[in-house]
Formats: sequence, structure tokens, C-alpha cells
Amino acid sequence: MPEGLAITLSGEVRRGIHEHVRREAPREAVGLIAGAEPGHITAFEELKNVAGPLAFFADSYSQFKAEKRIKELGLTVFGYYHSHPGGGVELSADDRSFARRTDWVYLVVAAGWHGEPPYRIGGWRRSVDGEFTPVTVA
Ligand SMILES: [Zn+2]
Repeated sequence: MPEGLAITLSGEVRRGIHEHVRREAPREAVGLIAGAEPGHITAFEELKNVAGPLAFFADSYSQFKAEKRIKELGLTVFGYYHSHPGGGVELSADDRSFARRTDWVYLVVAAGWHGEPPYRIGGWRRSVDGEFTPVTVA
């Protein structure tokens, strides 16, 4: 995707991710975002979080299966989302170290401590020199 591109989430994807965040709390929810056109997220796949509280690490097998389903739908993976129950939309130091790909968007979904609303979604993109710039999420 081009640098600095704004992304849009379909209402269905947004509601589905919020529901996942709520269900997974107080643990962090993690998943893939996908679509047919860059910048337009029309699908998501939940991943299994195998990390402890206040962290996420996607189970490799669940990621393999999720990527296969996305490919079978003719869609492309455009990035990850994960949640921060009781937190903000900024990437943590660990988040930054895991976010290696410069062609993906990293979404952070902030929620209440129990995964309840209000939800805020921040988007981030990594540059080749390792800087993170915000992406507009509409
Ligand atoms: Zn995080």
C-alpha cells in the first residue's frame, strides 16, 4: 500500500472486531484485516492469542488457517489488529518490535477494561527506517 494511505473499515468489520475485543477481554484480541482493494478493509479473521495478559502473540497455526481463508475469498491481508483493554491506541514498545512489515497497517483498538465501549481505533504504519506514522482510519 502507498505510504500514508488512509484506510476505511466496513461497518460489519468494525462491529465484528469490537465484538471480538469484548469477548477476549481482559486479554488482548488479535486478528488479521483484509480486503480486495488496498485501503478498504472488508474482512477480518480472528487469531488465537497465545500470549499472557497485556500482550499478544498470534498462534502460527491459526494465522496459517486465517491467511488461507482470506486467500480463498480472493482477498489480500493488509495488516493486523489487536486490542488494548483499558489502554490507548498507541503502539507499545513490544508492539513496535513485532510490527516488522512496512506494507501492512497495524490497528490498535482501545476499549474499556472489560472490553466494553467506547472503542477507539488507531492505525499505524512502519517506514523502512523503523518510524511509525499514524494512518487515518475512517
Ligand atoms: Zn499492544
